[in-house]
Amino acid sequence: MKVLVINCGSSSLKYQVLDMTNEVLECKGLVERIGMEGSAITHEKIGMDKFKNIVPMEDHKDAIGHVLDAIQDEDHGVVKDMSEIGAVGHRVVHAGEKYAHSVLIDDTVMAALEDCVELAPLHNPPNLLGIRACQELMPTTPMVAVFDTAFHQTMPPESYIYAIPYEYYQKYGIRRYGFHGTSHKYVAERAADMLNVNIEDLKLITCHLGNGASVSAIKRGKCLDTSMGFTPLEGLVMGTRSGDIDPAIVTYIREKEGLNQGVANEILNKKSGVLGISGVSSDFRDLEAAAEDGNERAILALKVFAHKVKSYIGAYIAEMNGVDAIIFTAGVGENDIGMRDIICNDMGNLGIKLDLVKNKVRGKEMIISRDDSKVKVLLIPTNEELMIARDTYEIVTKL
Ligand code: AMP
Repeated sequence: MKVLVINCGSSSLKYQVLDMTNEVLECKGLVERIGMEGSAITHEKIGMDKFKNIVPMEDHKDAIGHVLDAIQDEDHGVVKDMSEIGAVGHRVVHAGEKYAHSVLIDDTVMAALEDCVELAPLHNPPNLLGIRACQELMPTTPMVAVFDTAFHQTMPPESYIYAIPYEYYQKYGIRRYGFHGTSHKYVAERAADMLNVNIEDLKLITCHLGNGASVSAIKRGKCLDTSMGFTPLEGLVMGTRSGDIDPAIVTYIREKEGLNQGVANEILNKKSGVLGISGVSSDFRDLEAAAEDGNERAILALKVFAHKVKSYIGAYIAEMNGVDAIIFTAGVGENDIGMRDIICNDMGNLGIKLDLVKNKVRGKEMIISRDDSKVKVLLIPTNEELMIARDTYEIVTKL
């Protein structure tokens, strides 16, 4: 069965078609600037050159229409007609406490996801738009929702309850949810395979370090704790997000600078993180270039980022009473040799010894710790789309 995976943002959309009989990626693509001037689709059939078409796309339905045209294209397509697509898997960011697993989409699920819009006002609406557009264009194709929050639903209350009046949890669902769950789950399962150990017997710390970044503590295959919280703003220092700060800072700066809530939110989400500290960029390649040129604030931003990852690793080792493997994934985790080095540096007493030669690798599954390292350090490129396709295939084949 072929599965179409859709990851729909507010103005962009990523897609892939995978043949799930052997888990082979057949094509992938990206639609950008939906509803704006200069909207375009970039499509790549695996093994062929990619092509980019600049075409007006008014809305998400228009965009999905172009995706369907691309995957049925005579030269660059992977199916003759849409009947060959057995199911569609949709990435959905927030399922609140409603779903701890992926689900077949029906009216009840759509209503539940509408209820979660309040919790993820930036993410859930475009996810829902993508689902509706697909439902209109493929009314008989089963669709599955795969949630970023689902994997973290196994966290115990002591991990997810905030120390604010309990009524806010009861009234508004204010608690820690966690995000990037599909990625944390994928790399945890791959790590168990690579180490050839049953995941039930492992304590893992997964570091998803991209533009958005989070760390998870995974014991016996289940999430015990994760660094993102009520929203994806909590936890690590990120590209442009502050991560953990003293909440009193927000009211203090708002008062000092006369900022309204929207501007304060924008500062914490878009102007903070390593960009905010360095004033240079949110991209670690730019930061490292600036650091090499002696830019003190770029150096500081990299150090603050590493310090925060290290402190979460330490906390999770304490929470799990040890760790068997630490996994690095996502843009920075997979590619930034220097950052992995600084994070793992000087943790020999905890049994963590990075192999500086093996660490000189990018984007490849590998064990990068020394042979005598008690804790294994692994580099595992994430593959959220494959995970979405797997869940979709599993659910649909059981119908
Ligand atoms: P992601 O959000 O997972 O796509 O990660 C994107 C981020 O990965 C970029 O903003 C960069 O900071 C980082 N990145 C990508 N390639 C490299 C590289 N070769 N070295 C350092 N950082 C990288």
